[in-house]
Amino acid sequence: MRLLMVEDEVRLAEAVQRGLRAEGFDVDLAHTGPDGLDAARTGRYDAVLLDIMLPGLSGYRVCRALRDDGDDVPVLMLTAKDGEYDEADGLDIGADDYLRKPFSFVVLVARIRALLRRAGEVRPGPYSAGDLSLDPAARRVTRGDIEIALTAREFAVLEYLIARAGDVVPKTDLLAAVWDAFYAGEANVVEVYIGYLRRKIDAPFHRHALETVRGAGYRLAADGG
Ligand code: CA
Repeated sequence: MRLLMVEDEVRLAEAVQRGLRAEGFDVDLAHTGPDGLDAARTGRYDAVLLDIMLPGLSGYRVCRALRDDGDDVPVLMLTAKDGEYDEADGLDIGADDYLRKPFSFVVLVARIRALLRRAGEVRPGPYSAGDLSLDPAARRVTRGDIEIALTAREFAVLEYLIARAGDVVPKTDLLAAVWDAFYAGEANVVEVYIGYLRRKIDAPFHRHALETVRGAGYRLAADGG
């Protein structure tokens, strides 16, 4: 497995590189945003670890540029910022996960393995709930004939819900499935994503398919709402 770490704190980057090599990963380093983007664009990496505050081009912009290229390489954002808003922001531009600095090396390795595992999963489907459908293989979501663009994280939340359409899905299940078991942040990141999804799959179509079941979780109505 070959990883790219884009991090301008050179000593931190080199320490992580040594540790990850000891875990069996090949790790290349880049220390600026533009160098990181150029390296990531070679397509040689199984995952990218991306600092946010970088010289030249921020991690947000590097990630956005990769997604705009149609590159779905798993991206783990490394954030020194506090607060869910920034993190949700990072995920909304297409990052797959984030880790707040300072992080423990053991947690970093676990997150990387979880990312690689998710990326390598054979996905079943396609799924549907009424006229809403999601095709995991094609990474495509449609309502009727209209295609809906979702970020990677929104897609993962919807995939989990639509695979269980009609069932009440506890928030904690969503957190564990989509953010993985090591997520240490606030459970209301799920609410943030449910809000994003409603604005894309329901509101423009005057639907209410994605229901909140008070005190229990969320349900994607099987009849499409
Ligand atoms: Ca930095």
